[in-house]
Amino acid sequence: MKITRVETFAVPPRWLFCRVETDDGLVGWGEPVIEGRAETVRTAVHELAEQFLIGAEALRIEDHWQLMTKGSFYRGGPVLSSAVAGLDQALWDLAGKAYGAPAHQLLGGPVRERVRAYCWVGGDEPAQVSEQITAQREAGFTAVKMNAAGRTGRLPDGAELRALTARAEAAREALGPAGDFAVDFHGRFSVAGALKAVRALEPYGPLFVEEPVLPEYTHLLGRVASATGTPVATGERLYSRTEVLPALQAGVAVLQPDLSHAGGLSECRRIAALAETWDVVVAPHCPLGPLALAACLQLAFCTPNFLIQEQSIGIHYHGGAELLDYVVDREVFRFHEGHLLRPTGPGLGVEVDERAVRAADGRARPWHNPVWRQPDGSFAEW
Ligand SMILES: [Mg+2]
Repeated sequence: MKITRVETFAVPPRWLFCRVETDDGLVGWGEPVIEGRAETVRTAVHELAEQFLIGAEALRIEDHWQLMTKGSFYRGGPVLSSAVAGLDQALWDLAGKAYGAPAHQLLGGPVRERVRAYCWVGGDEPAQVSEQITAQREAGFTAVKMNAAGRTGRLPDGAELRALTARAEAAREALGPAGDFAVDFHGRFSVAGALKAVRALEPYGPLFVEEPVLPEYTHLLGRVASATGTPVATGERLYSRTEVLPALQAGVAVLQPDLSHAGGLSECRRIAALAETWDVVVAPHCPLGPLALAACLQLAFCTPNFLIQEQSIGIHYHGGAELLDYVVDREVFRFHEGHLLRPTGPGLGVEVDERAVRAADGRARPWHNPVWRQPDGSFAEW
């Protein structure tokens, strides 16, 4: 079974899908994208496909992964690793369809029957946390995540810290003792600022605090991790085993590889196995579309050290387009008491609505994250 064609589709809200076709008619789908750089990744996907995949045997997934990640002298980084990720997902989708099994079955079989998921509340500048948590609880979710702060200085001042603890208190009250909330710092604070903020959150028992420092300061992450009993999470901006290793050495409790950024199912499976050797759990990052989430689920169901799954249905910046718009069978993404059930379909386990995808292609407006400034006019982390 040889690969004959690779197509890409840029669809609202900000996603890129790839479709890999073979000479015996099987088709695999993946989602190679970096939020805000879909067109750049699209170019990389077609360059990699031309160089390494077209005309090649489809099911040599590992060999393709090796060539796509190591076959060029300059390698790695978010753009290339995301291009590889989507193509790798599509190859696993193809393999599952060729063998008539879900990808997680090919990776050792299921270790659980359902996967706990969380949703976002509060937006970029967290507000109305109580109301939104109450709505999510009524929808069956038992866990949510919110930003620690909006636009803030590197060192949070007293008012910002009080706002943070007030939101944490509101979250704990809305959830009750049994529910969980996680707090995403988005690297908005300095190391010292993160330390202050993490300690202030301790009485409210967050499930984890995420990206307390920027990924370029991973060498300083240990200062935060060793100074708090709150589990520290990071990983959405780390793209390979070698890049997550310093975070593990720093003492993180939760790794958050992104199946559409960190080399796909192949590499994220290995990242999870590496995390297991450090007694660390994984909570894959996924604010993306249906194929990215489907790939996350395939990993979740065959990974013993899995914690919880992020998902983006209804997230604040999608502006109406939803991952359900692009699949034929929406049951795969139906929540049962805040959990997703094990997909039994072949490959990634979702059937793409190809007509909807082709009709939406090119309708995605360019998406960029906001560029924030401090009141004095200087740059602020988003
Ligand atoms: Mg995050």
